[in-house]
Amino acid sequence: MKISCIGGTKMCFVLSVSVCVVFFLFMPWIRYGSLTPQPLLACNLTCSNRYFVSQLEVVRLSPHGHNQSHRLQGWKKYSTGSGRKDVRHVKERLQIGDVFIAVKTTRKYHRSRLDLLLQTWISEAKEQTFIFTDWEDQELRQKVGNQMVNTNCTAVHTRQALCCKMSVEYDKFVLSSKKWFCHLDDDNYLNLRALLNLLSAFPHNADIYVGRPSLDHPVETLDRVKGDGSASLKFWFATGGAGFCISRGLALKMSPWASMGNFISTAEKVRLPDDCTIGYIIEGLLEVKLQHSNLFHSHLENLQRLPHNSLLQQVTLSYGGPENRRNVVRVSGSFNLEQDPTRFKSVHCLLYPDTSWCSHKKPSS
Ligand code: UDP
Ligand code: MN
Repeated sequence: MKISCIGGTKMCFVLSVSVCVVFFLFMPWIRYGSLTPQPLLACNLTCSNRYFVSQLEVVRLSPHGHNQSHRLQGWKKYSTGSGRKDVRHVKERLQIGDVFIAVKTTRKYHRSRLDLLLQTWISEAKEQTFIFTDWEDQELRQKVGNQMVNTNCTAVHTRQALCCKMSVEYDKFVLSSKKWFCHLDDDNYLNLRALLNLLSAFPHNADIYVGRPSLDHPVETLDRVKGDGSASLKFWFATGGAGFCISRGLALKMSPWASMGNFISTAEKVRLPDDCTIGYIIEGLLEVKLQHSNLFHSHLENLQRLPHNSLLQQVTLSYGGPENRRNVVRVSGSFNLEQDPTRFKSVHCLLYPDTSWCSHKKPSS
């Protein structure tokens, strides 16, 4: 009995060991629900993305997966090409050659206003600056050559005449390959470095319209272009007297209402001045918002109030006309008020001290 019992125990032991061996041998097939063995990651070089995804899932399950997962996701991004796009986001420095600068003037201001601009900031951006006027002035033509554009628009300060000039400015910009269009009046000082700083900060290829609103509220007008004139449309616009800029992509989108003389008919339909019509097209029709900037200045504001320590960071400056001669920026420097009533020469000498005519003057008391 005893022996048979011992023999039975031995048999039981051998049997259970065999059952265990068989169980462990077949366990993987039981676990993955199939009796045909499958490779867990059937992958080669042509399916690298799938491979990365599987790797990411493995990492996410690991106890320290969080950080590693991020690292691998980053790696995946770069290796699949989308990462390379991010690398291109590193800002390219904008050059003054990327900007088309339009200065609006008229025959009576060629000597009294434009000469000062030619002597100061335009001398630093001769090839980028185009002067849009209404008279074939031989003296000006000799000085600037093809940079002077005779628009053949009438030499009067009416909505139609000013829109006529804006229309020519727009068409000339479109024909250029420049990235930015900037419009200025002939009583603006343009700080080229500050302009480049400002424009460089905007994302490449974005739809940008930047300038100073002349009012503290949007304009409201009847929509006679998109609608039948029964509904009203609210929009902001940048005052032309302080200057404004538009990115190329956005300018091209304006084309149905602005190119080939269409700007004049759009302005006629809405009965608005040139700068206002620009705002109407961009904000009202294209629904792109004006980027409000306090770096642009016209003589509609009190220029004496501009803080001295930030004067050289402003993008544009201006000066009051004959009726408000004292409305100029406060700047001490090489020239007194009599020598430099607009203060543009003094500002220019602070920005470009190496200019030949700057060093000859002694600081005024
Ligand atoms: N302007 C023009 N034709 C005119 C009168 C003015 O093209 O008959 C231009 C002028 O050269 C300037 C802009 O329009 O660039 C604004 O003129 P201004 O500074 O005299 O007027 P305000 O700034 O008061 O509107
Ligand atoms: Mn003005």
